[in-house]
Amino acid sequence: MANHSSESSFKIPAVKFTKLFINGEFVDSVSGKTFDTFDPRTGEVITKVSLGDAEDIDLAVKAARHAFDHGPWPRMSGAERGLIMMKFANLIEENAEEIAALDAVNGGKVFILCKFIDIAAAARTLRYYAGAADKIHGTVLKLSKGLQGYTLKEPIGVVGSIIPWNFPTVMFFMKTAPALAAGCTIILKPAEQTPLSALYYAHLAKLAGIPDGVLNVVNGYGHTAGAAISSHMDVDKVTFTGSTEVGRKVMMAAAASNLKPVSLELGGKSPLLIFDDADIGQAADIAFKGMFFNKGEICVASSRVFVQEGIYEKLVKKLVEKAKATVVGDPFDPKVHQGPQTDKKQFEKILSYIEQGTKEGATLLTGGNRVGQKGYYIEPTIFTDVKDDMTIAKEEIFGPVMSLMKFKTMDEAIKRANNTTYGLAAGIITKDLNVANSVSRSIRAGVIWINCYTAFDVDCPYGGYKMSGFGRDYGLEALDQYLQLKSVVTPVMDSPWY
Ligand code: NAD
Repeated sequence: MANHSSESSFKIPAVKFTKLFINGEFVDSVSGKTFDTFDPRTGEVITKVSLGDAEDIDLAVKAARHAFDHGPWPRMSGAERGLIMMKFANLIEENAEEIAALDAVNGGKVFILCKFIDIAAAARTLRYYAGAADKIHGTVLKLSKGLQGYTLKEPIGVVGSIIPWNFPTVMFFMKTAPALAAGCTIILKPAEQTPLSALYYAHLAKLAGIPDGVLNVVNGYGHTAGAAISSHMDVDKVTFTGSTEVGRKVMMAAAASNLKPVSLELGGKSPLLIFDDADIGQAADIAFKGMFFNKGEICVASSRVFVQEGIYEKLVKKLVEKAKATVVGDPFDPKVHQGPQTDKKQFEKILSYIEQGTKEGATLLTGGNRVGQKGYYIEPTIFTDVKDDMTIAKEEIFGPVMSLMKFKTMDEAIKRANNTTYGLAAGIITKDLNVANSVSRSIRAGVIWINCYTAFDVDCPYGGYKMSGFGRDYGLEALDQYLQLKSVVTPVMDSPWY
């Protein structure tokens, strides 16, 4: 069993922002309703948060529309937008502890990792797109029949962003930073499980000088507030990260309303292929972190680990050692590696998948139990003898559960890795360049990591194949999702048009 720690001397700052943020002001919801937000360490209520609904989304869309049609943000130069975004990034760094504490207490994320990974990524993402804001150019076109023209890249308009709970900070900036750089205005709906840090960011956006109405944050449930965004006639684009099931609903609502374009970052069941020539210690390290980082609540988690038969036994032993050495407990305790799952529903879902795995005949090597008597802690869990058609090998668990499978040849591994409806990410561990190159070209997934895993960088586009969605976050490619291309054509003097 994993070690357990339930002690922490960290003093969690009081929650400052709980209302909706619309048109530059914190306001109550139209209905006056609130919802409870929870601490997954105990299952207790942290505070009440204003509950947004379709009417609140409508107010936010009106504010965003006005800011887009008449406000300064889309009209100022990219350089000016960039400067404000840089200031926003600085403010995030100045308040890093307080914001990391919000994500840790609300989402069960390990505080120190959140501060140095998630919050740092937020500032870096803002700065990256701030630097791109004054480099958005079209092209000059020399056309036939004495025509010439040029293309203009214009902001797409009012953007609706709907995000999940596993990375409240990273997702917030993955969606808003390129949209802000492009000159768009935004309504962002955080996941109902993690409503707090987004409100803090709204406050900092205002302090940084982002004009009223440009960045609105409306908390609320998916089937009400979320659905109101995807079906709104005055939202020009929706960017969504979440489950495949909800992504389908978002796309259908977009199609049934104003045919707004959507980009979808959805679920995954990502394979990691470890070949016989791998360094066993390094491979175990990559595989373990690839699966158990953020308590397995990560869409690219290496949840299907295929190991070549020559090193299978040794690698399994190393992975089990790592699982047993993992300290599960209070995410504010600096000794802790793994905090609680984000909420009760997710906690119960993961435990039921573990039960299903055992029932279907997989061997539970380690873990499988809750840790402690309160809160949503689960042991890092590893199954072996997993068959490709078992539920735990097919469905996204989104928790600390790894399935280990043995393979003989590269072709077999590629075939089995591709035997999934998803195509988000994959990993390869080998010293053989030919194997690495062949496998990376053969696997149908949006990101392939060779001899590393979850190696994200804002400069590297990220997104899915197959039912893991379409469109790309990060990289300069993401900017294009928030831009419209306009062609302007005119005859020159000697054109037959004259
Ligand atoms: P979810 O799909 O249930 O919810 C995501 C968001 O959609 C939430 O804000 C929710 O309120 C909203 N929503 C729910 N129903 C809606 C509706 N009918 N219309 C509009 N919005 C609605 O997903 P989740 O449980 O919050 O997150 C887990 C899922 O997200 C996993 O499948 C995971 O793989 C995926 N995910 C993907 C990525 C990625 O980058 N591809 C990243 C993180 C999470």
